[in-house]
Order: sequence, then structure tokens, then C-alpha cells
Amino acid sequence: MRTLISTIRLPALVDTKTQKLLSATMKEYSKAAQMAYDYGDINNTTSRVKIHHATYYNFRGISPLPSQLVINAKNKGVDVLKSLKNKKNKRRVRFKDQLPIRYDQRSSKILLHQRMVSLTTISGRIKIGFEIPDYYTKYLDWDFRSFELIKRNNCFFLHFVVQSFKTSLDPHSQIFVGIDRGIRHVAVTSQNKFYNGSRLREVKNKYLRLKRTLQKKGTRSAKRKLKKIAGRERRFQRDLNHCISKEIISHIPENSTIILEDLSSIRKTAKQRRKSRSLRELHSWAFYQFQIFLTYKAAAKNIEIIYVNPEYTSQKCSACGFISRKNRKKANFECQNCGFKLNSDLNASRNIGDRYFDDDYLFELAQKAKRYLSGDPIIIPNVAS
Ligand SMILES: [Zn+2]
Repeated sequence: MRTLISTIRLPALVDTKTQKLLSATMKEYSKAAQMAYDYGDINNTTSRVKIHHATYYNFRGISPLPSQLVINAKNKGVDVLKSLKNKKNKRRVRFKDQLPIRYDQRSSKILLHQRMVSLTTISGRIKIGFEIPDYYTKYLDWDFRSFELIKRNNCFFLHFVVQSFKTSLDPHSQIFVGIDRGIRHVAVTSQNKFYNGSRLREVKNKYLRLKRTLQKKGTRSAKRKLKKIAGRERRFQRDLNHCISKEIISHIPENSTIILEDLSSIRKTAKQRRKSRSLRELHSWAFYQFQIFLTYKAAAKNIEIIYVNPEYTSQKCSACGFISRKNRKKANFECQNCGFKLNSDLNASRNIGDRYFDDDYLFELAQKAKRYLSGDPIIIPNVAS
């Protein structure tokens, strides 16, 4: 079982009268948080109990804020105090007067089927409607836990925390696709699909040459042109990222799993260093943009994206598992152990796809086997003797 937690932000459907009520409630809520914070700050304490006893009754005497919200606000004030406790040159925090309100099960109720929440305000409980856009419908069978009421640019939003308990994936009912990302090919999938980077390189080089000549000129009109070119280049990159991510997703069936390398992981392998160096040439933002496009297009088809450790994916033979730097000669992969030959990016994408099973699935299978075998003696050959 894996617990997945996500947050979704939905606009609250409220009329002007309700907006005023919510704003006024937020104002009182902010005051309560400030009071708790100030008391803790002045008396040098972060004890919730102490702060509660010192502030709760006073505040209730001067404010119409319901007790549950006073307590929530106090907790918020204390949390901020705690987070700043060990900071040097701490300044006194002034909460803005429209602080987001934390609603929990005591102060609210989520009526998902009616697309409504019921929540407490300074003048009793009210109901607020919301709509769930299509791209969020996959969350409908998730567990809606709690929410925050947020005000942005005079609009109110409900920020839901949703939770799902997923059973482990059954690899026989699913398709797993590894994707290698790089320079020579923008992407190569373990389904033998190549997404070419040559057009991208061509255009990039064209712009690069143009930029160099303009930079040499250095005139005002040259600078203006440079700006224009930067915009054009960005748009080209964005379109390409859109096209390629769309194309990739169109070839992958619903409910599949995509496996990508986690290039942000701390352990820097040779491949990563090489990759990050070449990525700088390609602008790393473009790379992340691709990842973002892929992620939201995948979500629409209920395709899950999983990141795995990128170590040795380019040096490992996808046929026999032998790892050697000598296996790879630029675009050609040839295993020094079994002689297996393949395009090296395709070989990498297969390793990336397999890694899901290395890390996760095989471990689980081994545990299962252990449980299955427990009771029976397992004979381990003594290699040393
Ligand atoms: Zn091999």
C-alpha cells in the first residue's frame, strides 16, 4: 500500500454577501493568530497549552470568531512562532489580515457529492459550492481530508488536501514505459520510439549564430533584435515540448506507468554530470518544461509517472545486466560481456523502464518469496569453502 497525498485548488462559488462574511471571518482569524503569536513571542514560549490559557478567553470576549477557529488560528500562530524559533535576527511577524483559514473536521464538513462544503464563520455555519473541472475528476474517489479557505485577488479558493491508498501495481495488467531524455534524441522510449532532436539542434544553432553576430554589433537595434530572437526561440522550444510530450502520451495506453530518470537526485553519476552539462547547453528550463507538459498530459490518461535512480542506465547492458563504461561508444551500445548491440539511448530507456522492477517490484517479489518459503529450510551453498 502506498499513500498518495495531493492538493487541489478549486474556486469557491460565492456571492458578494458571502464574500463579505468570509473576509470578515478571515480578519478575526488573523487577529486570533496574531494574538497567539504575540503572546508566545513576548513571553518566550511555544507551548500551545500555555498560549491557549493566556489568550483564548480574552479573545473570545472581544471577537465573534467561533471557538474552533480561535483554536485553529492559535495553532497557526504557534506554528509560525516555532518555525522562526531558532532563526537569528528574527523580526516580529505581522500576519496579513486575510490569513488563509484552516478548516478541519470540527469546523467544517466536505459534501463531495453535492460539491459543497459547510463551514463555520463569525455568523454561524454556511454552505459554499465549488466545481470540479474534468482534469480533477480522477480525484473523486480519493479521500477528501481537510481544506484551507484562501483569498487571492478578491476571489476565494478552497485548497483541498486529498489522500489515496493505492495497492501495489500489478505489472501484468499494466504497461511500463521507460523514457531516456537527452540531446541526440529529445526522448527515446523503451517502446522503440525515437523523438528526434536534430531539428531542435538545427534551430538552436541557427539562433546561436544569429545571436553571436548581433552581440558583436552591439547597437541598439541589434539588442532589440536579440530580445525578439530570444522570444522566438522560447516559443519554438515550447511548441516542440508540447508536440513531443503529446506524441509520446498518444502512444501509451491508459493506466500505464512512465518511468523517468530522477535527474535531481543528489548522487551524481558520470552520466548525470555529463547530462547536466549538456543540459546547460539546451537550457535546463526547457528540459523541465518538457517534464511538466508530460506530467499533465499523462494525468489526463491516468498514466502514472515514476522517477528512478539514474545510476548506470547508460552503461548497463539491458540484455544481460553487465555494467561497463566500455559498453557504450556514443550512439552505439555493444555489451562487452554478451555482445548485445543496440542504439545506446534505446538501451538506456530499457534500463530505465526495468529499474522500476529493480527498485520496487523485485524487492516485493523477494519478500513474497521469503514468506512463501518460510517454514521450509533454504539451503544456501557455501561458496567460500
Ligand atoms: Zn550484455
